[in-house]
Amino acid sequence: MDTAVVVGAGPNGLAGAVTLARAGMRVRVYERADQPGGGAATRELTLPGFHHDVCSAVHPMAFESRFFREFGLSDRIPFVTPEVSFAQPLDGGRAGIAYRDLERTREGLGADGDAYARLLRPLVERASEVAEFTGSPLLRIPDRLRTPIVFGLRSLEQGTPAWNARFREEVAPALLTGVAAHTILAQPSIAGAGAGLALTTYAHAQGWPIPVGGSQSIITALLDDLRAHGGELILDHDVTSLAELPEAAVTLLDVTPKAFLGLAGDRLPARYRRALRRFRYGGGVAKVDFALDGPVPWRHPELARAGTVHVGGTRQEVAEAENAVHRGRLPDRPYVLVSQPSVFDATRAPAGKHTLWTYTHVPAGSPADRREAVTAQIERFAPGFRDRILATSSRTAIEVERHNPNYPGGDISAGAPELWQLFARPTFSGEPWRTPIPGVYLASASTAPGPGVTGLPGWFAALTALRREFGIATAPDLAPR
Ligand SMILES: Cc1cc2nc3c(=O)[nH]c(=O)nc-3n(C[C@H](O)[C@H](O)[C@H](O)COP(=O)(O)OP(=O)(O)OC[C@H]3O[C@@H](n4cnc5c(N)ncnc54)[C@H](O)[C@@H]3O)c2cc1C
Repeated sequence: MDTAVVVGAGPNGLAGAVTLARAGMRVRVYERADQPGGGAATRELTLPGFHHDVCSAVHPMAFESRFFREFGLSDRIPFVTPEVSFAQPLDGGRAGIAYRDLERTREGLGADGDAYARLLRPLVERASEVAEFTGSPLLRIPDRLRTPIVFGLRSLEQGTPAWNARFREEVAPALLTGVAAHTILAQPSIAGAGAGLALTTYAHAQGWPIPVGGSQSIITALLDDLRAHGGELILDHDVTSLAELPEAAVTLLDVTPKAFLGLAGDRLPARYRRALRRFRYGGGVAKVDFALDGPVPWRHPELARAGTVHVGGTRQEVAEAENAVHRGRLPDRPYVLVSQPSVFDATRAPAGKHTLWTYTHVPAGSPADRREAVTAQIERFAPGFRDRILATSSRTAIEVERHNPNYPGGDISAGAPELWQLFARPTFSGEPWRTPIPGVYLASASTAPGPGVTGLPGWFAALTALRREFGIATAPDLAPR
């Protein structure tokens, strides 16, 4: 039986591991942390009984990723899909509410409802095509071009200073920028608009699901399958050099190009090393988790039903905050991503209590503790929030990297998702997971098709390895068994 080694038990490392095990390989996964999961781990960060998602919390790709569909993720673990996918409060008690139902969203957006619906409808009607081509390496020509063209034109419109042309009021544009800002790119930007439109499409299609029990449940499902097919996981093992790994036909590395340079030492040709050094990392995040003795008292009642709340105000305000980060400054009134999973999932906190997950963008490597800035922004739209706080856990961008080297400087995308790096991720190649070292493949979110809990980079890396090393051209069956 051929053996495979995987470094890193994040969603991509495990997606790759499962795929190789299903192809009949004996797979061993090494993980530096004391718990598997990487960006999909769940822990008690504040008080006993409060289970916080350490990184990812909301999973727009759980039902849309091709890997998770093949794996049957939604049949393996329970998810809750909030009726309100995301929302954004504005001053004066106003809010934009993105229901899963596009029509209901249109009705709530007043004078801009029709313009918003016209922008999204052609994409929502073909959400699986949007997921298919945004979830593929961009150097691959899609089979059907209509949806990519419609998507591209809309990304151009929303990614340039013409972005307000179709709108008359503040709420609908704020909603769109609230999603585009996930990318930590300057606003407006075409890559940010593209990512934002893809995520907004899923919000109005299958919604933005939240796994019962936290993101760790996704990891447990992957690990259960890996173990059922002979794989093993070794925790607390920080791999510092490829030389220390056992002999294997395939090695998958769930690490960044920066880390790979260190692991490979002088085994990489100078040209490839230069290409990896050119790979750019983006802005960072500071994470703040709260234990609360009640739900967030949002001024606008509908926000209580939202799986994700984008806090930061109008399109203009969010853009200013994001552009300040882009220029290396800390905004006074930052853009904050907020989710309160305990509203939908009782396993997250003791009865009557709540967990609150937030993070905000900061310049790469910032040592700033953003606990107070985040609290003040939430209090702005939820008076009385401060009084509900039982405990907080705050992590600076530097600490985010220290916790997991896959996020250099706190860059949770493991490489800026800017336009060029959607093609060259991490290098400009039809098989960007392949490295010049025989049998060694990169498999992290630094590789195509990029960040998010999708399993896709790991799956593509494993499929490429199977094809190149063994001539196996058919993807192994991943269905539950
Ligand atoms: C604060 C935050 C919030 C996020 N929110 C969301 C969200 O809501 N939804 C979403 O879809 N995505 C979100 N993301 C992004 C998502 O978590 C990542 O894109 C995803 O986890 C990437 O998966 P990965 O397997 O490539 O890397 P990771 O999940 O980072 O896993 C890499 C693993 O490899 C291990 N490792 C690295 N180097 C070594 C080594 N040398 N030896 C041994 N082990 C090693 C690490 O410890 C880690 O466990 C968020 C990320 C962060 C940090």
